[in-house]
Amino acid sequence: MKYDRILIRYGELSTKGRNRKQFVDKLKRTIAKTLEGFPSVSIEAKRERMYIMLNGEKEEEISKVLKNIFGIQSFSPAVKIDRDIEKVNAAALDIVSSLYKDGCTFKISARRADKEFELDTNEINQTIGGHLLKNISGLKVDVKNPDINVQIEVRTEAIYLSCENIPGAGGLPSGTSGKAMLMLSGGLDSPVAGYLSMKRGLELEGVHFFSPPFTSERAKQKVIDISEKLANFNGHFVLHVVPFTTIQQLIHKQIPENYTMTATRRIMLKITDEIRRRKEALAIITGESLGQVASQTLESMYAINDVTNTPILRPLITTDKTEIIEWAKKIDTHDISIRPYEDCCTVFVPASPKTKPKKEKIRYYESFTDFEPLIDEAVNHVETIILKREEKKMEPEMDSLF
Ligand code: ATP
Ligand code: MG
Repeated sequence: MKYDRILIRYGELSTKGRNRKQFVDKLKRTIAKTLEGFPSVSIEAKRERMYIMLNGEKEEEISKVLKNIFGIQSFSPAVKIDRDIEKVNAAALDIVSSLYKDGCTFKISARRADKEFELDTNEINQTIGGHLLKNISGLKVDVKNPDINVQIEVRTEAIYLSCENIPGAGGLPSGTSGKAMLMLSGGLDSPVAGYLSMKRGLELEGVHFFSPPFTSERAKQKVIDISEKLANFNGHFVLHVVPFTTIQQLIHKQIPENYTMTATRRIMLKITDEIRRRKEALAIITGESLGQVASQTLESMYAINDVTNTPILRPLITTDKTEIIEWAKKIDTHDISIRPYEDCCTVFVPASPKTKPKKEKIRYYESFTDFEPLIDEAVNHVETIILKREEKKMEPEMDSLF
């Protein structure tokens, strides 16, 4: 007897009242997309739970993928059995034998959604527990803290049996909080900021500024590889790569050196905002953390933010680098981010950027140059790349962090 389905328990979306159907639909769509590589599975979405019918696909492989999907509180591989206690005995014995290791303890937790069933919960517990004890030598009962909890659910149509409760990624299903643009560099911070935003139900599209030949193809490849990691969380990730060389060169020609960083960030934000408008997203996300570098002081943020009214979300604003590094390791972007290829901002970084730039001054410096035609040109020449979930499935252990 093998598991034939996976039972999914919803997370926070259970509290969303009238929007519940929309939440369940979105979660179903994300799961379907993420499981595209398993063509035989089918999904049955109900109000309280979702079932993934394995139809012969491997349960372990699918479980690895499900661990990354937001909106799932926990899930359990399960098997559907006819309402016949002998068949339940046989299925329980098969599954518990396959999980059994020396000295293992167990308990049976029966629940009857259908009170008409011939045995009550105590009788079910005793019958199946007795059958297992008789047939697996060394197996012991522990009702408080068992290694294997055999959950048996009696319903009118069938009996369901499951033994494991696997924690999900939590959060809200992709897209239920709307859409935002993620300013994605090759660094450690922005991928983590993206992950945390996706966890709260945001659908993201990445925007990356690329300045060849000052930044190499390998720097761009870093961002593509990071995007592929982010695609693991909802099946795909759209990345817009903005050609930025001409603008950066013009900034360096026209703006006093200690203000070039401020001007660069302002124009990056303007361009991201225009792509956001075209993509009908409602916010911009960055990996900024207060005080980390010159562009991330309050004064800098005030001067840079001046170019737009669009909400800028900064999920990492109060976190320390060490915490960010831990997250980056958990989501598997750390090793990509620390590859030593320069990003466009690092290449052009001035010797002493202003840590307290003035909004009026940068406006004044910019007023001598018409950046608009170049901004339009950059937006019109964006290269859009769509990344799919990696075929090699990842297995992050995020439960301890979130
Ligand atoms: P990160 O580790 O994310 O690169 P950082 O600590 O290096 O961040 P900065 O380089 O100042 O800090 O960047 C601050 C934020 O600006 C980044 O988190 C990212 O959101 C955005 N950003 C920086 N460089 C780029 C780029 N080349 N393309 C798109 N966004 C960028
Ligand atoms: Mg950076």
